[in-house]
Amino acid sequence: MAETIRRGAGQGARALPATGELADQRGRRLTDLRVSVTDRCNFRCVYCMPREIFGRDYAFLPRAELLTFEEIERVVLAGMRLGVRKVRLTGGEPLLRKGIEELVAMLAALRTPDGQRLDLALTTNGSALAAKAEALAEAGLNRVTVSVDSLDDETFRRMNDVDFPLQRVLDGLEAARGAGLGPVKVNMVVKRGQNDDDVLPMAEHFRGSGCVLRFIEYMDVGTTNGWRLEEVVPSSEVLARIAAVHPLEPIAPTAPGETATRWRYRDGTGEIGVISSVTQPFCSGCTRARLSTDGRLYTCLFADHGTDLRALLRSGSDDDGLTAAMAGVWSRREDRYSELRASSTPSSGRSAADRDGHRIEMSYIGG
Ligand code: SAM
Ligand code: SF4
Ligand code: SF4
Repeated sequence: MAETIRRGAGQGARALPATGELADQRGRRLTDLRVSVTDRCNFRCVYCMPREIFGRDYAFLPRAELLTFEEIERVVLAGMRLGVRKVRLTGGEPLLRKGIEELVAMLAALRTPDGQRLDLALTTNGSALAAKAEALAEAGLNRVTVSVDSLDDETFRRMNDVDFPLQRVLDGLEAARGAGLGPVKVNMVVKRGQNDDDVLPMAEHFRGSGCVLRFIEYMDVGTTNGWRLEEVVPSSEVLARIAAVHPLEPIAPTAPGETATRWRYRDGTGEIGVISSVTQPFCSGCTRARLSTDGRLYTCLFADHGTDLRALLRSGSDDDGLTAAMAGVWSRREDRYSELRASSTPSSGRSAADRDGHRIEMSYIGG
């Protein structure tokens, strides 16, 4: 295989051979890696880190258990040998990780031999974005996604559950746009009874702004958010509410395996997306792996088990060994949790396999 992948010049420009086509048990490629850089967060969103569970006594990972930036770089580089071209930094709240700009710069310096760089994105609650957007852009970040669940300050504060004001997040979003981190995407998790009345105001606020608003169905990630199917607002309902006022038409996906289904306003004022993981699972196109804060590789958001890459990294495994381990994990992958859930009992909505199981939390693995 002629293709090689290089570290940036600052890292000694070490070249690693690519390993060729890799597919899992369902023929899905590995193209996308989400990296959780911290399991901590300054928000306590009701659907993600409910404060009754993530209170003062909650045991977050001690620092020594976090992957270092160099370790993350090695995993990303190994992933690139296997086909990874998109990396998204997430968490917890990724901007809480000290020196995050350095990690961005390290990853932005990685290149394939034909000069390709990673598509490097970050998902944030926006609370620290006003202060950090410029530095992130300078370090080589391409895009950000900002989570905004409501434009009503009271609802926003209630959903983040730490009384964080909406305006500071909107300022962060503007700073990201000003720094060229765009087009900025905005994620809104819709939870019935909490913020479903905000669907239309959100659509109207971001229509024509150049930001792409994406509505996410409230998911049963982890075991602590008390998920109930009744609280899921199906994307079909979200679309109907918007289209009743602002007619919409579907548009083609930009890339295969895209999680969001895209729609545009017929009057040309922009597009929105819906992420329908509950009502319309997209497992068959899922080309995504996830690296947890402490270095476990997960092949599904709903997995109960990850492969401990940190142990490999810290026991002297070389790049070939690391790559081979990741390739082995991916080639054995069969995951299709959301599809199984969709075909399971309607009363709970959860799949039979997982009702009693232990699953990882969103804040640990990233969204
Ligand atoms: N803290 C950052 C943020 O909130 O953007 C990054 C991590 S957060 C876990 C990533 C994304 O997952 C966010 O857009 C968040 O709204 C979404 N998310 C968290 N819990 C969710 C759930 N139960 N269902 C659907 N989306 C969820
Ligand atoms: Fe924090 Fe993001 Fe989870 Fe909200 S969704 S608690 S901001 S990690
Ligand atoms: Fe991918 Fe798992 Fe989500 Fe299906 S349930 S789309 S396999 S992460």
